Amino acid sequence: MTKRCSTCGKFAKEFAEFPCPECGKQLVRCYHCREIRNKYSCECGFEGP
Ligand SMILES: [Zn+2]
Ligand SMILES: [Zn+2]
Repeated sequence: MTKRCSTCGKFAKEFAEFPCPECGKQLVRCYHCREIRNKYSCECGFEGP
């Protein structure tokens, strides 16, 4: 099962899923983006480390 990474938009097998601290929407971050500490952003405008 794969999910689309909220940060880079690619489909990833390994990912972390967590709710946006601001609006509670489920965000997906792939292993790669976590590895390089890519910032994630939500459609509500929230940006996290
Ligand atoms: Zn990613
Ligand atoms: Zn949000």
